[in-house]
Amino acid sequence: MRRAPQDPLAAAISRPRWRRWAARLPPRWLAGGPAVRAGRGLVLLTGLLVLLTVPLLAPPAGDWLVVLGLAAADLALLAASTAVPWDRLPARTLLAFPLAQMAGLAVLGSATRTVTGAYVPLFVLFFVYVGLHLPPRTAYWLLPAALPLYLLTSEPLDVQVVVRTLVVACVWVVVAEVLAGTVRRQRAAADLLVRDARTDPLTTIGNRRDLEDRMTLLAPGDTVVVCDLDHFKQLNDTRGHAFGDQVLREFGAMLAGSLRRGDHAARFGGEEFVLLLHGSGTGPALDVVERLRQTWAERGGATTFSAGCATLDDVTTAQQALVAADAALYAAKRAGRNRTRSAEAADGWGPRVEAETPLEP
Ligand code: GH3
Ligand code: MG
Ligand code: MG
Repeated sequence: MRRAPQDPLAAAISRPRWRRWAARLPPRWLAGGPAVRAGRGLVLLTGLLVLLTVPLLAPPAGDWLVVLGLAAADLALLAASTAVPWDRLPARTLLAFPLAQMAGLAVLGSATRTVTGAYVPLFVLFFVYVGLHLPPRTAYWLLPAALPLYLLTSEPLDVQVVVRTLVVACVWVVVAEVLAGTVRRQRAAADLLVRDARTDPLTTIGNRRDLEDRMTLLAPGDTVVVCDLDHFKQLNDTRGHAFGDQVLREFGAMLAGSLRRGDHAARFGGEEFVLLLHGSGTGPALDVVERLRQTWAERGGATTFSAGCATLDDVTTAQQALVAADAALYAAKRAGRNRTRSAEAADGWGPRVEAETPLEP
């Protein structure tokens, strides 16, 4: 079967195959978030590199014992990392991963005769980890451990070694800081894009994409309300499009500013807005809409609005509630506008009058 061609941009940011494979590991091994998982990856990678290359150094039996002891310590560290409550600890606790590996290399360097110094290049991986997963400037915290270790494994100690150590330290820090800065900017850009993608540019409240995401979180008892400004075309035609835009902005601000925490208002399109009212049920939802109608009138809203609402129950999806609320809205329009109607699942989602509360002119 031919696969559908993938959007090249989506493909570029999709997860590589090995990460999709890793996602199938038991949840316990994936616990702690991406930085902790990367820390485990660092331990695995350095441990495997040592185990696979150490035979080339033909170590005597005593050195093998040290290597195997450290491999066992790595496994213990991996197991322990699944029991740590990482989300309750400061981010810099993640330094435990590179520091533990450095301690292992220090033991390897001092307790063996053949292995000393062979694995110092791994230090760059530790700084890459710090740059990618820890806050900027954390790399400096790693230097007091990394520098003495580097010097110890670089005998005999002469001026050349000291200069080399200084240069290497600068390279480590620059690599980590460049990565940390890039990651920070990339995250900020991604947050901005997500916010823009979910915001209606005219009213600055949520847009239809934001609404559809939030609708997936609705549960029985939550109410969907569709509000539509009355005779808006006429308003545009008589007072101009710019004035119409200003009315939409004010209406959006009134909705966003009047709802309870946890409830949401979004611009569905044109002069239609949708409210998601959590756990209110139809009766209280009608009261909310009437309060909004009053607030809008007190603020001198240039035109009235009509509304339809529907409450989710055990068999009704959010999308069905939206369709029912929309049908109820049109029943309110037909009944003369500036009023609210509700629809009930028991009526097969046909709109029926639940409340008729036209505002006195
Ligand atoms: P009803 O009471 O039946 O809802 O009548 P209406 O005139 O409000 O509805 P209709 O669907 O006939 O017209 C909607 C108008 O909303 C037409 C369109 O130009 C206007 N509109 C849609 N989006 C915008 C916008 O972003 N800014 C402005 N100013 N007007 C908009
Ligand atoms: Mg309208
Ligand atoms: Mg409309």
